[in-house]
Amino acid sequence: MSWVNYRKEAIDQIANTQPVKADIDYKKEPLSEMYGRFVFGERALRERLPKPIYKAFLKSIRERKPLDVTMADAIANAMKDWALELGATHYTHWFQPMTGLTAEKHDSFITPTSDGHIITEFSGKMLIQGEPDASSFPSGGIRATFEARGYTAWDPTSPAFILESPNGRTLCIPTAFCSYTGEALDRKTPLLRSIEALSTQAMRILRLFNKNSAFVNTTVGPEQEYFLVDKRLFLQRPDLINAGRTLYGSKPPKGQEMSDHYFGAIRSRVLAFMADAEYKLFKLGIPVKTRHNEVAPAQFEIAPVFEAANVGCDHNMLVMETLRSTAEEHGLVCLLHEKPFKGVNGSGKHNNWSMCDSEGNNLLDPGETPQDNAQFLIFLAAVLRAVHKYGTAIRISVASAANDHRLGAHEAPPAILSVYLGDLLGEVVESIVSGKKFKGAKGGVLKVGVTTLPPLPKDASDRNRTSPFAFTGNRFEFRAVGSSQTVAPANIAINTAVAAALDEIATDFEKELDKKGSDLNSVIQKLLTKYFTEHKPIIFNGDNYSAEWAIEAGKRGLPNLRNTVDALEHFTDKEIVGIFTSNKVLSEREVYSRQEILLDNYSTTISIEAQLTASIGRTMILPAALEYQKQVADTVLSLRAAMGEDVDVSAQKSLLEVLTRNVSALKRNLKALDDIRTRADEAKGSSLEKARMYRNSVLPLMSECRAAADELEQYVDDNLWPMPKYRELLWIY
Ligand code: ADP
Ligand code: MG
Repeated sequence: MSWVNYRKEAIDQIANTQPVKADIDYKKEPLSEMYGRFVFGERALRERLPKPIYKAFLKSIRERKPLDVTMADAIANAMKDWALELGATHYTHWFQPMTGLTAEKHDSFITPTSDGHIITEFSGKMLIQGEPDASSFPSGGIRATFEARGYTAWDPTSPAFILESPNGRTLCIPTAFCSYTGEALDRKTPLLRSIEALSTQAMRILRLFNKNSAFVNTTVGPEQEYFLVDKRLFLQRPDLINAGRTLYGSKPPKGQEMSDHYFGAIRSRVLAFMADAEYKLFKLGIPVKTRHNEVAPAQFEIAPVFEAANVGCDHNMLVMETLRSTAEEHGLVCLLHEKPFKGVNGSGKHNNWSMCDSEGNNLLDPGETPQDNAQFLIFLAAVLRAVHKYGTAIRISVASAANDHRLGAHEAPPAILSVYLGDLLGEVVESIVSGKKFKGAKGGVLKVGVTTLPPLPKDASDRNRTSPFAFTGNRFEFRAVGSSQTVAPANIAINTAVAAALDEIATDFEKELDKKGSDLNSVIQKLLTKYFTEHKPIIFNGDNYSAEWAIEAGKRGLPNLRNTVDALEHFTDKEIVGIFTSNKVLSEREVYSRQEILLDNYSTTISIEAQLTASIGRTMILPAALEYQKQVADTVLSLRAAMGEDVDVSAQKSLLEVLTRNVSALKRNLKALDDIRTRADEAKGSSLEKARMYRNSVLPLMSECRAAADELEQYVDDNLWPMPKYRELLWIY
């Protein structure tokens, strides 16, 4: 059977596909009862641990103190009993190596006995530490081959959970992953360190206001976008299978122009999938809240209620995993790639971020009293300072080959970081800078510590959707994260940058307040004026997609790091390394190793894509085009034979001209692509030099190949075309 028949058969089958009914019945098993059933969280701990141990455990988490061994043994035992009761046979340390995915290596609970039976065993030691042979994970040179061991260490602040398969269940224990020498090989370790750093600095500010919080945490609410395609069509696209995105495909007549998909009625097959995925996520205690159709056809969003950053990041990994695996059960494939289809929107992940003290107060909520407002304005100043001074670290955190297709491509925020405050808060800042009248204030001038801020609007209509870093009433929304990326790096960078800014601000305050006769309110007024004046250039409330903004941003001295290579190059700048090391988030060696890993990842991604472009071009598209070319040429010959040399064959000839031109261009560019890609693969040079080769030479040739092939797609007989087209992938499911 030829490809085209597969294509048509798939479509016939899809036409007769019904939504998949999963085994879910909320009437029998109410949501409030099943929610969190597969999580070994506070409730399970309370029910199963002796009270003193339960209390000591909570206290040690709250105060971030290490656990003692007897406590670990008791918890491990309770955890094992709980898991066995739920039918688990295995456990695994669950971690997040630098692949950007999660990793697991399962062990069963069994220990054989001498009489040929087994007992089940799980000790505190097994809970606290694991030692997977980790030699194949990227380490960026940190782990020498003679010391390939990696260690996983239990993260008691993120609850253990149960992973299901139709034929068994596994207890998963969230862990950090590091080398023998203690260097971080994952994303959780620096995230935890960054939260710690931010907490330390934020508490210095809170102390100015006589607040005795035990710690400050950061909160994260990631809005996850994704595409769904039917699996039968997906399997006919080698580019989607291997690269996660289409490398060829001409723009369909109908994309997102009509805005008829956004918030549209959800098709029943998709809704069945969403409800199934949500059911699984509810069982895992993940508070998913919002679901809707997104802008592009076949694009959707799922968003949870925000949580503490560490748990929120773990949960986002589980959301992505669950979307992927559940889609398969529904005959669909979930595409998490940032840009699966050219010409329609890509997918991002809005990272809603804030800081919250141990009493549950959101530090970015303006509050009701003048003093709370003053405290809020200091934290606001810290965020502005962080993005202004250390925005490059934040830009780097979202750099990837895939996200390059989005950032700055007139749909996602641009690569230039700026902050949107909205009109009202913008006026507040302006009034503090200029000392001029503020219309919301009683006496005309805004006096910090005396004036109460007007309520800030939290409504969606007021928001600027083009801003990469927008204040949305009581949090910031960082919109440049890619849909497939873990949110950990973005939060590591934001936390570290804000910690650095808070450190500087707290030091200024402590110095000023040491002076004789100083009082807090006038110091706040003085320093806020200084910070807001200094960091005003980072505030931009206009259209971030406009060409004028790029020019204006340049005048303001804001960096425009257009792509991954430009961004990653700055990872090892003195200032960037400085904030990571001084806040003990990453050591210098860890920064260098991460830069290396990310650059390699960029180059490898493009090398794979280039090989796919070449093989699909050569073995699928060219043969189809040549076949059609032959058919048209044969038509000319047979027409002439039948009707004489004078017959009008101009239509056939002009068609042949288009085919021939593009066949030659495709053939020529495929050859050039192969040559340059091989040269890049084999180049000696540093990772940075190699990455530059892929960006400068390989990517443009991929585009050339695609341009020729996409034009051919519009001319070649549909019966010969070897792959499902955009109009099918995006609309038939
Ligand atoms: P929109 O699409 O309008 O931006 P959504 O309701 O889809 O809004 O997403 C908003 C996200 O912001 C949710 O995940 C929500 O829980 C989260 N959020 C709200 N408050 C905070 C906060 N203080 N810290 C972090 N995230 C928050
Ligand atoms: Mg949003």
